[in-house]
Amino acid sequence: MAYKKVLEKKAEEVRRSMSAQKAAQLVSRLDVPSDEGDLSQQHHEEWIFLNRNTIDMKLLREISDALRRIEHDTYGICLECEEPISAKRLDAVPWAKYCVTCQEAIAARIALGENVEEYEEADR
Ligand SMILES: [Zn+2]
Repeated sequence: MAYKKVLEKKAEEVRRSMSAQKAAQLVSRLDVPSDEGDLSQQHHEEWIFLNRNTIDMKLLREISDALRRIEHDTYGICLECEEPISAKRLDAVPWAKYCVTCQEAIAARIALGENVEEYEEADR
């Protein structure tokens, strides 16, 4: 399946960018801060680094979930309503697990403060 290649390539890209970030982080640590200003700047950079890394980790998890769905032959089926996800959506977001309609409904629930992450796990 063509999506498998796309997903594997994307996972590789994310992994590569994560290790590049890690290397950059290690290099920046070599500059020992000399005063308070530098220290808070360093904390700020660490926060950005962690934050970006969390997003990458989440994406990697989404991609590996999608690859698992390919193996189980459930790829491209919405986890919520079990209708096929449109090819247009899969082309844009190959790791999509919901159709546009359900994705929007879930986004609306997240906006209301509902813990959808737990819901997703329980649904599996
Ligand atoms: Zn759906």
